[in-house]
Amino acid sequence: MEVGVLALQGDFAEHIAVLKRLGVTGREIRLPEQLENINGLIIPGGESTTLSRLMTIYNLREPVAEMAAQGRAVWGTCAGMIMLSREITENDPVPLGVMDIGVQRNAFGRQVDSFEHTLDVSALGPDPYHAIFIRAPLIIRVGEGVDVLCALDPDRPVAVQQGNLMATSFHPELTNDYRFHSYFLELAGRN
Ligand code: GLN
Repeated sequence: MEVGVLALQGDFAEHIAVLKRLGVTGREIRLPEQLENINGLIIPGGESTTLSRLMTIYNLREPVAEMAAQGRAVWGTCAGMIMLSREITENDPVPLGVMDIGVQRNAFGRQVDSFEHTLDVSALGPDPYHAIFIRAPLIIRVGEGVDVLCALDPDRPVAVQQGNLMATSFHPELTNDYRFHSYFLELAGRN
């Protein structure tokens, strides 16, 4: 199995390192044709305004949206989640609009940009999940076909799944707990 990691900006190397630990090749994706033979795509965290501009320049917006629409697995973490959303609360960046969620960027304020939180994620089993949030976005609207995987409280979901698509506000690639990556590999394996 080969999983692509969008490597235009942000912490793609950390995702590739986790994939390697799980015995999977992570391929750096910078060109549309590189999307062809991968089982799934991870859009990493970083800065969504920059990511959005680079995706336009590298002609990746349409092919990634198409990949998502075809039912292939795509996972966005943090800035990557912003890119997958249907709408955000600002005009910039312009998201890809493939997941039926609304997102607010930098939703946890400037002073408390980063924090860690223990979450219950039943899809990953009974052990609590320790999540790292860095200038994180929040999901403020969840569409009908979207499942909430975990939330800070009932009004604040932070990980969601819509069939083949997954989005997390936090950064599983910065922890030693690889359960989110394993879960995504299951989605990618179904293609
Ligand atoms: N705050 C960033 C943004 O809006 C996301 C931060 C992150 O990916 N860790 O794009």
